Amino acid sequence: MVFYKTEEEIELLRKSSLLVGRTLAEVARHIKPGTTTLQLDKVAHDFIKDHGAVPGFLNYNGFPNSLCTSVNEQVVHGIPNDIPLKEGDVVSVDCGVLMNGFYGDSAYTFGVGEISEEVKKLLKVTKECLAKAIEVAVVGNRIGDIGYAVQSHAEAQGYGVVRELVGHGLGRNLHEEPEVPNYGRRGFGKKLKEGLVLAIEPMINMGTKDVMQDEDGWTIRTADRLPSAHFEHDVVVRKGKAEVLSTFEYIEEVLELV
Ligand code: MG
Ligand code: MG
Repeated sequence: MVFYKTEEEIELLRKSSLLVGRTLAEVARHIKPGTTTLQLDKVAHDFIKDHGAVPGFLNYNGFPNSLCTSVNEQVVHGIPNDIPLKEGDVVSVDCGVLMNGFYGDSAYTFGVGEISEEVKKLLKVTKECLAKAIEVAVVGNRIGDIGYAVQSHAEAQGYGVVRELVGHGLGRNLHEEPEVPNYGRRGFGKKLKEGLVLAIEPMINMGTKDVMQDEDGWTIRTADRLPSAHFEHDVVVRKGKAEVLSTFEYIEEVLELV
């Protein structure tokens, strides 16, 4: 069942999504060689609690932490650990919060210190995939248009598009219908209607699209062990132009990209 949101509900979703953006910015301040992903997790956990919200991922289906931290060839759902980040690593940080009954869910992939030109390009293209997906998340288009936008842009660079994990509806539940695959055919799939709120999250691999799951039951990594990137925004389907509820602005202020 698909839940279309009222404007009041969208305002609450915006608050949750913005808190995720601010939490990720707080995390961004701590990303450097030597920091562990468990330390990042604590920063996020405390920041979310201090702002009167609940970490959305903690205990979700038994997930043990507040962040998913996925380093290098890890795609998504990495569990924070005590291994220090190294110069040249990339780490996808995915964060969820629950506040006023509604979830926010957003992810950003960070370079640790200096990263290679090759990896920089992977991050740039993945972020562009997200932007292209948002451009077509408008009333009258279909779910397949979103997938097509991501897939065509990523594959034009020779990158692999993960099939096993998808974006999703967002609301009172972290994962609502419909699923939002990062691959698809233009003009196919469910029609997009006003008030549908989607978490759109391209997961793009430098090499093969194929992934494997670790024995921890969570961590997804690329089959060829090449790096992967992941960016996620929460978006309201509108007429003409989608409305983005989450933001990378706070993060990019910290990274001095704006
Ligand atoms: Mg997420
Ligand atoms: Mg998500």
